[in-house]
Amino acid sequence: MIHSPLPPFNQRPTMEPSSTRKYHRCPAPGCQLVVPNRMFSCAAHWRALSHDIRRDIMLSYRPSQTVATASEDWKLAVGRAIEMWKV
Ligand SMILES: [Zn+2]
Repeated sequence: MIHSPLPPFNQRPTMEPSSTRKYHRCPAPGCQLVVPNRMFSCAAHWRALSHDIRRDIMLSYRPSQTVATASEDWKLAVGRAIEMWKV
């Protein structure tokens, strides 16, 4: 039996204790949309990013990371994303 990895951003939500934070607000300035934690931002803002930034965010992201445990590479990529959203 071969277990193929699930495609990114396509996992169905699972039932978790309500204490588990599963959603966060889209990090784009002024955006009020709430998205699942497996997604970095809402779809519209994700599409607005350049291919390079999206790739850097996905490559440096670790499942279940928090702001405290995120890698420096991830924080750098997020900083670039926010700069891109401002313009
Ligand atoms: Zn957004």
